[in-house]
Amino acid sequence: MDQQNLLRQMRIYDAIFEQAPIGIAISFNADVQPAEGPDTFRINPMYEKITGRSKEELRRVGWASITHPDDIEENLRYYKRFLAGEINGYAMEKRFIRPDGSIIWVHMTVTRLIFGETLQLNHVSLIQDITESKRAEAQLKYDSDHDRWTGLLNRSSLERLLVRHVQRTHLGRRILISVNLSSVQMLTSSYGFHYTQDLMKRVALAMYALCSESCLLFNTFENRFVFYITHAPNQTQLMHFCETIKGILGPILVPERVDAGLGVIEVTPQNETDIDQLLKKLLIASEKSLAMTDQDFACCVFDETMEEEIRREEQIKDELECIAADPYCRSFYLEYQPILHTLNHEICGFEALSRLRSPVLGQISPVEFIPIAERSKLIVPIGWHVLRRAFEFSKKIERLGFTNISISVNISAIQLLRADFVPLLKELVEKTKVDPQVIGLEITESIFVANEHEVNHILKQLQEEGFHVAIDDFGTGYSSLAREQELHVDSLKIDKYFLRKLKQEAPEQSVLSEMISIAKKMGHCVVAEGVENEFQLKYLLQHGCDQVQGYFFAGALKEEEAIQMLYDKSR
Ligand code: C2E
Ligand code: CA
Ligand code: CA
Repeated sequence: MDQQNLLRQMRIYDAIFEQAPIGIAISFNADVQPAEGPDTFRINPMYEKITGRSKEELRRVGWASITHPDDIEENLRYYKRFLAGEINGYAMEKRFIRPDGSIIWVHMTVTRLIFGETLQLNHVSLIQDITESKRAEAQLKYDSDHDRWTGLLNRSSLERLLVRHVQRTHLGRRILISVNLSSVQMLTSSYGFHYTQDLMKRVALAMYALCSESCLLFNTFENRFVFYITHAPNQTQLMHFCETIKGILGPILVPERVDAGLGVIEVTPQNETDIDQLLKKLLIASEKSLAMTDQDFACCVFDETMEEEIRREEQIKDELECIAADPYCRSFYLEYQPILHTLNHEICGFEALSRLRSPVLGQISPVEFIPIAERSKLIVPIGWHVLRRAFEFSKKIERLGFTNISISVNISAIQLLRADFVPLLKELVEKTKVDPQVIGLEITESIFVANEHEVNHILKQLQEEGFHVAIDDFGTGYSSLAREQELHVDSLKIDKYFLRKLKQEAPEQSVLSEMISIAKKMGHCVVAEGVENEFQLKYLLQHGCDQVQGYFFAGALKEEEAIQMLYDKSR
């Protein structure tokens, strides 16, 4: 190469070195110690810019002293292996500390440089500023670990922590306590999403005060929280801790009429490997607490009987799935309980009641399987089977000559609130040719609490189609009697609770007569269910109740028995 070419190449090389957009440092015959002599070390302007230090300063202090303490160990490990010739280079992400104390993240690649035959260890280190992407990465990680509203760690963080803690015996006894506030949903429909979210924030903040190194708080779902306690105290102290939680929640939740259910489970070598199942058990314990209606803040410790309940629930759900898929499944059928005129005891209709006779578990009460069907949403297809069978029964008795006998069907809120409920019902009416005038639809009162306007709008459509709409379990779920007037309903079915409470020795203490008279003033037909004796019947007759239903007359009957009863009565 001639002199001119050589000069040109050197100029190109210098330009690249000086203007490169990444930091370059070249060490000739390097060592960890600061280098000596002007020719042992070259760095470019970008390297100076990224580290915030001049070439002279870098030469004086050496890279190790400006490396973040958390990264120095890893960096030195690599570097020593590199010097020993074990590796030819390495790459890592590391932090430098700038003169003003700020931290800069770089991606660093170090590699050997070989010039001719020399045995000297020369190397080049390339650094690229990645502070921005590290910041974005940290934000992403934060977002994926935390709940957006409460800022608490979320469910996936808890799951990851539990996985990391598997078989860590040095953590002592480990306990999970869940705080289930799902009843707060009621408030959402009245006051909106932000209202409940703010409430959840207040709850989160208040409970956060109980946290420590061995007691972490997670927001595992919208309105569910979990404390994870390591080195847990004994049972008495633990129960004391639960009392403290209740004490903190009380002032926030009692004025809002929101209940809390606390669930407790110990993390053991037997249950710690299936974390999904573990958290499910915890949820079950907290739901069990919520179901204890006699207390605002109950606490349940998970035990094996609950496990048995889950198994049973799973079995029932499997059967309900089969039923949903097969409209003619024989283990599922309807029974019909007569409803009579109070005055003359003539049959005016029947209530269709679902029955499940499981080949494995035997007869199962609807009180047990309907809530399972609702939780799994299987109530929707099953509800349609019920409607179809009830309509067919209505047609059957009509063909037998019994006209004006109504058939009432219980409709679950989940089915009623589906957008396609009214059109599908119309379709079924056309298909079965049933007369909507003799079909009663019973809707439990509790569904009005959360969805008053929406439900009322649907009821209006149902009335317009000619159906008879009844509020079931009246008196148990909806506080304002006055508003009942605005509802699109034809009749009220007073819950059997009020008949049970009616005391022969003190009938004047019962609110039953007032309930009947208010309902009648509003123009509703009044039905009493759970009539079991003559005294109750007389009372109802005296106070103007229109219709009665109960064991005093008949329980739920098989289809043939119901028809037989119609014949008997018509004789
Ligand atoms: P419900 O709608 O309040 O039905 C009345 C319940 O009271 C029935 O219980 C009936 O057998 C019972 N009963 C009747 N007469 C008397 C009496 O004199 N005394 C007492 N103590 N009880 C009496 P069952 O059949 O166990 O049904 C329980 C609940 O399951 C029903 O309560 C209803 O809410 C629900 N259910 C039943 N079938 C269906 C259905 O097809 N769909 C939906 N969504 N729910 C259903
Ligand atoms: Ca009913
Ligand atoms: Ca009822």
